[in-house]
Amino acid sequence: MIMEYKYTLDPTSKKFRCPRCKMKRLVKFINNESKQYAPSEFGRCDRESACGYFKYPSNNKQQYLPTTESYVAIPKKTISYININVLDRFGNNYNQNNFISFLLQHFDESLVYDAIIEYNICTSNYWKGATIFLQIDNEFKIRTGKVMLFNALTGKRVKKPYPHINWMHKVFNYKEYNLQQCLFGLNLVNKFTTTICVVESEKTAIIMSMIFSEYVWLATGAKHNLKENLLKPIKNYPIILYPDKTEYESWNKKALLFSENNYNISTSNLLEKLNLEDGSDLVDYLFYFNGN
Ligand SMILES: [Zn+2]
Repeated sequence: MIMEYKYTLDPTSKKFRCPRCKMKRLVKFINNESKQYAPSEFGRCDRESACGYFKYPSNNKQQYLPTTESYVAIPKKTISYININVLDRFGNNYNQNNFISFLLQHFDESLVYDAIIEYNICTSNYWKGATIFLQIDNEFKIRTGKVMLFNALTGKRVKKPYPHINWMHKVFNYKEYNLQQCLFGLNLVNKFTTTICVVESEKTAIIMSMIFSEYVWLATGAKHNLKENLLKPIKNYPIILYPDKTEYESWNKKALLFSENNYNISTSNLLEKLNLEDGSDLVDYLFYFNGN
């Protein structure tokens, strides 16, 4: 019976570099007759949920002999999306959008208008004056939207009496939503893109794009969201990270790991050197530090 199977997963603990996630976590297949490893593209990454790479040496799955460890190939859950018609539904009422009101205090209307179009900024009445930052991927599919409330005068987030932040798929009450975030602004990357700058907050990405429009500005949306998964779609572009003040060490550590995986990526320590409050970002520097 056993010899009917041509290949089996290597039962030893030897691991190789995974073709997908590049970590040394790939279990290779062994040819049962020759006892030789199958070519290195074939195998199973043991990072089952994070990576899930699994390639049989043959198109015929019958030739795969399951090992005693009861591994079952977990089908990759498909990404959930939000219908594109939200752009029509929420891409309006900008006079009731605190973030836009804030921008209009500092920038020409035409610049603000361009930013609205580029980043598909939307308005929500979930809280009066709220803004939606849509995460639109490189295929122009909407992964989700972040609903946030800003103070129209200061441009700061409203954090009291509670942080005014929610997700669109939660507001819509979608069940079993498989959220896979992408970088905010990812839809702006195209073949004409030269350098990509990555910041933490959506607000900062938008404002920086209005000041330094020669770069494409993207946001991770959260400190801990700087992940290779999110950077993968921009792997072929030069990337500069602009972490918030005090986050340099943590982002730079990750950037060094990404560099090992052939990313052309660097981290700016500009904010660390400035006399700014902890957690300040480029916009804080440009707006408040300069007494604007
Ligand atoms: Zn892997």
